[in-house]
Amino acid sequence: MDSPAAKPPAPLLIHGLTRDELARVCREAGAQPYRARQVWDWLYRKRVSEWDAMTNLPPALRAALSGRCLLRPAEALRVEGRPGHTRKILAGLADGEQVEEVLIPAARRRTVCVSSQVGCRFRCAFCASGQAGFRRNLEAGEMVGQALLAARLLEAAPTHVVFMGVGEPLDNYDAVLRAVRILNDADGLAVGARRITISTCGLVPGIARLAGEGLQVELSVSLHAPTDALRAELMPVNRRYPLAVLLEACRDYTARTGRIVTFEYTLIRGCNDAREHARALAALLKGLACRVNLIPLSPVAEFGYAASDAAAARLFTETLSRAGINATLRISRGASLDAACGQLRARSRSQPLPGGPRR
Ligand code: SF4
Repeated sequence: MDSPAAKPPAPLLIHGLTRDELARVCREAGAQPYRARQVWDWLYRKRVSEWDAMTNLPPALRAALSGRCLLRPAEALRVEGRPGHTRKILAGLADGEQVEEVLIPAARRRTVCVSSQVGCRFRCAFCASGQAGFRRNLEAGEMVGQALLAARLLEAAPTHVVFMGVGEPLDNYDAVLRAVRILNDADGLAVGARRITISTCGLVPGIARLAGEGLQVELSVSLHAPTDALRAELMPVNRRYPLAVLLEACRDYTARTGRIVTFEYTLIRGCNDAREHARALAALLKGLACRVNLIPLSPVAEFGYAASDAAAARLFTETLSRAGINATLRISRGASLDAACGQLRARSRSQPLPGGPRR
């Protein structure tokens, strides 16, 4: 009986390789060490998306790399918003999955908010991604690929990258940290570590691990409620890591890294935006090296609440400030788009898009 044919190895996402790994792949293809530096330059400085554009490489090396590696880990299937303003991209992945990213240009910044998973397991009540469930982790190359898609649309490398799109970054820890190191490479996209933000719904072991990485990245923790009872209603993860445990991990993080923690607090009308909530939050955060970002809710169909009105949002901010907490009221930059993560992807499921598996 014939033995089944061996499956060809899965293509490597070239944007998920560190420089050393890329050097090894080039060496295995018979190339001199300096060729890896040239490839890296095409990937991150010239940011080409076709092998044939790497004109200073011998055709044999281009053929070897294209046979082994995937050069386009993410494609823009849909872009919403205008150039120069906040834009939301629905990105198609090689296996046909889709994720969202957001580009936020400002005076001297080009921020891209990337997804770290397809879907999410944490089911926060106000989040479209959480409601849709988890499908898979993204690979590092797919996260770096989102930054490169942004660079193409912005016609310049992003200056800031925030891991705040779909998914929980610390639930995909190794791939996210690998992406951070590739984005941070000084000879590549060179996004400074302090300009990279990792957000979390409060995964305490991940926060502890991040504190020991020796990285200067920003940590952003989604809080959204000042009591365990309310937080557990909004964020089921609170049952696993209640506020006292989470805030202890944050204190430890600030002590070990010397960095402050940013807390995100979504203002939800009639739910968590009363003055007593602000006072309770101030008491909770007293003495912690932190800042608080207050963001009016982006409504989600499955969550029957609305954003706090302007007066309540202002009062909440002032109450925190008067209590000595560094608090900033922010406007949702995607307010005119489907701003909550997961909404564009959710909508695309009922509207067929071009795409599908690719190489
Ligand atoms: S808010 Fe973040 S952690 Fe919560 S369900 Fe949505 S993607 Fe997941």
